[in-house]
Amino acid sequence: MMSIKLLLSVGASLALASPVPAPPSPVLIGRETGHFNASRPNITIFATGGTIAGSAGSSDQTTGYEAGALGVEVLIDAVPQLWNVSNPSGIQFANVGSSEITPEILLNLTQMVQRELDKPECQGVVVTHGTDTLEETAFFLDITLRTDKPVVVVGAMRPATAISADGPINLLEAVTVAAAPAAARRGVMVVLNDRIASAYYTTKTQANAPDTFKSYEQGFLGYLLDIKPVFYFQPALPVGRPYFNVTAAAAEALPQVDILYGYQGLDPKMAEAAVANGAKGLVCTGMGAGSWTRPGQKALAQLAKENGTAVVFSRRTMDGFVESGSVGYGGGFLNPQKARYTLMLALNAGYDDEKMHALFESQSPS
Ligand code: ASP
Repeated sequence: MMSIKLLLSVGASLALASPVPAPPSPVLIGRETGHFNASRPNITIFATGGTIAGSAGSSDQTTGYEAGALGVEVLIDAVPQLWNVSNPSGIQFANVGSSEITPEILLNLTQMVQRELDKPECQGVVVTHGTDTLEETAFFLDITLRTDKPVVVVGAMRPATAISADGPINLLEAVTVAAAPAAARRGVMVVLNDRIASAYYTTKTQANAPDTFKSYEQGFLGYLLDIKPVFYFQPALPVGRPYFNVTAAAAEALPQVDILYGYQGLDPKMAEAAVANGAKGLVCTGMGAGSWTRPGQKALAQLAKENGTAVVFSRRTMDGFVESGSVGYGGGFLNPQKARYTLMLALNAGYDDEKMHALFESQSPS
């Protein structure tokens, strides 16, 4: 007989100091299952909250519910089929809506996940997460973890209490992918709604519908048919995907990078205000392929010269490539929130101008 082990990391609870509410008290002993089978892969589920752990007052309520209400033990118990494909164990890392996830929490999470992946007995990791910022966490993990083992980030668009809740099947599909040998060496993946996607490119495209995670240009990596993964390609990693080693970084290490939004008549003082407020870098969500107003560019050039502010241009359009211009760096295919974490990690690693150009221009046409 083997019990599901539910662990609460002291490190995680320390990282969850304000503004994230304290995690639930550590009542974390699982139940006896008798399902353990040494021939199945051991998959560790890090639960962080979100709609997949959400609870509403009625089964027809799909908005205005409480995200992060149910513990990882409840999530695992709701899907006994997990035992058909794995020996699952759960770690209640946090239990919050994903808008409460911070860079400090992510540093802590990636360090814990790396330690778990480094254990020979762990064959794969699943992270359950709110969908609102899921792509940020998945991207951060993708560029800070070093492993060949599958890592899958999963969420749900309907709370666990809803009729046709998508959380249980998404969790089963995520664990199934994490347990599949064919899922190795593909970087961090996002699994929702039967699709397997690269964390590097995937973004949330729809505020309400279950079919929301897409990477329009790069496409999906695969599909789940009868809850069995089918990959379209042999294992491959995104071109130009960097790796930042943060295994020893202190929780408060990452420099502040803010995102500005571009629009007709934008106020150039936004950039100055952000820098005065502590930003070491700025990601400009430009119009079209990253354009910014002339007065705005002048202000950015001045901040770069006088304060050493690093500026990356992305785009407010859904997809496409942003080239480098006369100021700062073009973010390539990265959307603003992904460009932000890339810039934060590069600044943290002390990249100079040449390395920044190489980093952001690694996908430029040759
Ligand atoms: N507001 C929720 C969150 O991001 C939405 C979700 O989980 O899907 O945590």
